[in-house]
Amino acid sequence: MTSPSRAIRIGLIANRSHQDAPDSALVQLLRSARISIQHLHIEWIVVGRTLDAIISHNLLDVCARHERFPYGREGGLMKLVSRVVDSDPARTVDAVIYLIDPVDPSSIFPEAMALKRQCVIHKKPFLSTLASAREWLELEALAIGTKPDASRDHAYRLANEGIALIAHDAMKDRMMALAEKHFSLLDQFAHRYATGTTGGLLNKLAEKIKGTPADRPWVQPFLSGPLGGDAQIAELVLEKKIRRILFLEDPHVARQHEADIQLLERAARTVTDFSLVISDVDGVDRWLDLMSKRIAL
Ligand code: PGA
Repeated sequence: MTSPSRAIRIGLIANRSHQDAPDSALVQLLRSARISIQHLHIEWIVVGRTLDAIISHNLLDVCARHERFPYGREGGLMKLVSRVVDSDPARTVDAVIYLIDPVDPSSIFPEAMALKRQCVIHKKPFLSTLASAREWLELEALAIGTKPDASRDHAYRLANEGIALIAHDAMKDRMMALAEKHFSLLDQFAHRYATGTTGGLLNKLAEKIKGTPADRPWVQPFLSGPLGGDAQIAELVLEKKIRRILFLEDPHVARQHEADIQLLERAARTVTDFSLVISDVDGVDRWLDLMSKRIAL
């Protein structure tokens, strides 16, 4: 994921409601991922108020190596976007954890949207829920030999799990290549869901690979994205029937159903301790590789 010659650098910010309470998402993340974080030797860039909250919760030892960025109102988030796109190894960030509260207006400020978009463009994980940050840290630590976190075993019992697969038009070939590569892992999930066109293509792929009986499609297709399929998938996310959403976005085109795309992401953030969204090809590939490794242990 990063050159072995330097530490992983992660930008960290949490919306206000995810900072202050003793069991806030920020506190839960730093407590539950403490061992993974230690093993990964992370350097943090922490936006102002988030760092204040970490200090007030006595968790600064978890983020001992850190740089303070300005408060949001002074441009901290804007500076973080600039670091995502920066190719200078001394300045760039490798991933962003932004614990988003979907009803906090700052979560839809331009800098928040740009942060996500530039992460997708520059192939850097954008982790906007507690579940995504926790699982990513655990899997990256696993990749360097850290023991899995037994308290999370339930999330890897795929026979109980639902997963969503969505790809914008320019990304459909890549979704099919990923589904083919990781077919045996995806095949273990209890339920697979997709938007209409993506689902149709995935079912053809599954038929080619294993000859699925016609009465039970491999993936359940909802309506096409522009006709509301994202919203249908969001309902299952809100009901905690889909933990993982693999959403290969095309960040280079204007999207007629931008609102629906945002709706689905906001649904995941509404159940922040449960759902995760992965939005870029390399991120999905690595995530599925590491999940296979986790399950095989
Ligand atoms: P589709 O929808 O799978 O029906 O193409 C995906 C999208 O474009 O949102």
